Amino acid sequence: MYIARVLYPVEVLGPGKRIGIWMSGCAHMCKGCSNPELWRQHEKHNISMGNMGKLIESICSKYDVDGFTLTGGDPFYQPEALKELLPYLYIVQKDILVYTGYEYGFIKAKYGDLLKYIAVLIDGKYEEEKNKGAVLRGSDNQNIYYLNEEYRTKYQAYLEQKTSKIQNFHTADGVISVGIHLPGYEEGIKELVSRKGLEEV
Ligand code: SF4
Repeated sequence: MYIARVLYPVEVLGPGKRIGIWMSGCAHMCKGCSNPELWRQHEKHNISMGNMGKLIESICSKYDVDGFTLTGGDPFYQPEALKELLPYLYIVQKDILVYTGYEYGFIKAKYGDLLKYIAVLIDGKYEEEKNKGAVLRGSDNQNIYYLNEEYRTKYQAYLEQKTSKIQNFHTADGVISVGIHLPGYEEGIKELVSRKGLEEV
């Protein structure tokens, strides 16, 4: 499976302190996508389920994990990987939020057997002109599906935040900014970096 990033604690893509998993590969090519570097799969991101399991286990052995958020890329670009990964994550923690650029009807028809592992699904391509800074949703055309009713109240309380938040992670690859960004945020960052005389990574 191709996994570009695993970060913890992600607090801006679902309630609590979560393990965020960025899966590589996406065919949607949405204009304004904040992770175009994840459209293609690179060999350096190829990881076995065994090693993913060890990584998840090592995080869970040290920290409290409230849930998982799978994003990317599009996790459903790799349905075979999801068939391995989702049942494993489900045993660890049932609060699993999955983003996909496909629509729910398509996912249900094609990969319906995987939906039992997903607590919440957010579907639909990113449409830049419909990005109004909503919490959890990149653009207003996207829908939130509560597939496990147990988690509806928890997510609805989280959605009561007025605006979405951004979290910056300092990693070996530089700073990774996580969350739902408003259109034009990259230009803003570039401007700030050049104003401060810093170098982009
Ligand atoms: S589905 Fe997500 S990762 Fe894929 S192009 Fe659209 S915004 Fe980017």
